[in-house]
Amino acid sequence: MENFFSNPDRADSLASLFSQAPIALAMLMGDNFVIKNANTQCLNFWQKGSEVIGLPILEALPEIATQEFPGILKKVYETGTSYNGSKFKTFIEKEGILSTYYFDFIFAPVFSEHKIIGISLVAIDVTEQVVNEIKLRENEFLFRELMEISDFSTAIYKGENLIIAFANDQMLQTWGKTADVIGMKLEEAIPELQGQPFAEILRTVLKTGEPYIATEDKVDLFVDGRLQTYYYSFSYRPMRDESGQIYAIWNMAVNVTELVEARIKAQKGIKEYRELAEAMPHIVWTANNQGKLSYYNENLLKLLDITEEEIPELDYKTIIHPDDLANFKRSWEIADLEKKSFELEFRVYDKTKEKFIWFLNRATPVFDDLGTIIHWIGASTNIDEFKILSAQKDTFLGIASHELKTPLTSLKLYAQVLERMLRKSGDEKNAEFAKKMDVQIVKLTSLIGDLLDVTKINSGKIYLNEEAFDFQKLVIETVEDQQMSTSCKIELHTKPVGMVFADRDRVGQVITNLLTNAIKYAPNTDKIVVEIKEVSGNLEFSVQDFGIGMPEDKKDRVFEQYYRVSGDEQTTFPGLGLGLYISAQIIERSHGKIWVNSVLGKGSTFSFILPQIEL
Ligand code: ATP
Ligand code: MG
Repeated sequence: MENFFSNPDRADSLASLFSQAPIALAMLMGDNFVIKNANTQCLNFWQKGSEVIGLPILEALPEIATQEFPGILKKVYETGTSYNGSKFKTFIEKEGILSTYYFDFIFAPVFSEHKIIGISLVAIDVTEQVVNEIKLRENEFLFRELMEISDFSTAIYKGENLIIAFANDQMLQTWGKTADVIGMKLEEAIPELQGQPFAEILRTVLKTGEPYIATEDKVDLFVDGRLQTYYYSFSYRPMRDESGQIYAIWNMAVNVTELVEARIKAQKGIKEYRELAEAMPHIVWTANNQGKLSYYNENLLKLLDITEEEIPELDYKTIIHPDDLANFKRSWEIADLEKKSFELEFRVYDKTKEKFIWFLNRATPVFDDLGTIIHWIGASTNIDEFKILSAQKDTFLGIASHELKTPLTSLKLYAQVLERMLRKSGDEKNAEFAKKMDVQIVKLTSLIGDLLDVTKINSGKIYLNEEAFDFQKLVIETVEDQQMSTSCKIELHTKPVGMVFADRDRVGQVITNLLTNAIKYAPNTDKIVVEIKEVSGNLEFSVQDFGIGMPEDKKDRVFEQYYRVSGDEQTTFPGLGLGLYISAQIIERSHGKIWVNSVLGKGSTFSFILPQIEL
């Protein structure tokens, strides 16, 4: 029988095939598996040279003794059936290190005359392929893990039918569904999507490969048994296979409902406030800390008859009455510096009416956490009518008091004549009545005088007859005058303090006002202290009483027109609330200053200073 190998050509070509094949081939002989042949590939796998040929395999590769191979070889040898190993894990020593390899192999028995004489070994190294597979599996596992734990809602839809291939817990919650929907068609799993644009968009992404990214899109979903509106920022991204074909869409979504709803609410709130501001008859505005207007209602535009575009160029100097400008500037500076509210009446030019209109203007600063002013909120109220009425009232009071003064002067004269005549005729009793009449006329004259003064001050028509006079002398005279009408002792601490240049009668009127107040508001006390002294180029006058005093928050208001601490309790302390107003006006116009220190229930000290003059 012709042996296959007996043909030398065949034997040659077979030998070269054997040695050069890209697979490992070896032949093991006998029951101790002596390596008879091993091609280069095989020796390479083993990391051995040709010296192992002729050695039993366990001697040649001691590291396999502890692995499964000896058992397998033995079994094949004994049973005569081949063994197929697939992706078989093997450890092979390479440069002193055991490395992992994977092989597909066949151990087949070699027969000679029906007797097993050895085993042929065919092996292919599949290490790279297996490692890649493992990596891929690990990646997929990691990806799924990641998707499951991520805060994003995420899902994968496959094919034209948009089969839900994957959806993490977040996404299921978003939909208000359970894991049952996985494997279903998206539109069947979530029927409420019908009539909403999402399925169509998904199909467009499938078709075009263009990712779709949405910010704060509205989605209606049936959650907790009812259709609810949510807002999502989401993306649909195409997933491609190795050939570049789109086979699925990856959907990532973040629920931004709370954010969007909060914003909608805030915008609604702002809108409501704006509407409120527009509905008000007042002018309202906000300005930054540089005084630049950031918001204003229509009323401002109407008053100034300008457009919104003209607002940035608006110069307050052109709209405020020239006489009020200095006051306006000063008040602003003080408010800004002291970080306090601003309040001032001034006139603003009304373009349509072509005249100046009185406004009461208020502004309150708004601070940041560090206490710096970030902006101002202001309001202006039209008080023009009130101002006109109050001017009319002043005119009336002026005329009335003026008209009353003349008959009163005659009345006073008659009373004095009457008193003298009665005394002369020895009728002392009736003479006393005539004297009392005179005292009442004096009081009446002073009241009317006050009213007249106020109308003069308000219309700016108070004139001061200034002259140089000895201040100490005036004080002594006035105190003596007042002492006559009270049983309370007025203690006088005085010394010569020089001259002042002012209206002597008016300054006397101030001193009288302060003294009568001290007497009036300190009933049942027996002492009032009057003091004059020099303080750095000024004369300081003060009256201290030990009467009812006044609360701290009221004390600066007593210099206002008609202001009375006790309100209108005329019975306890009658008065018009004009004395201090007039006094303050006189002192200020004489370049002085007036103020009060007071403790409720303990008493008050009213003081003023006037500049001294050198002669
Ligand atoms: P009139 O116009 O007659 O003077 P009046 O005394 O009430 O009336 P003002 O002199 O302007 O008015 O004083 C204003 C208010 O200040 C008073 O009503 C009173 O409440 C308070 N006041 C003034 N002086 C004193 C004082 N010495 N002690 C306590 N309160 C005072
Ligand atoms: Mg008074």
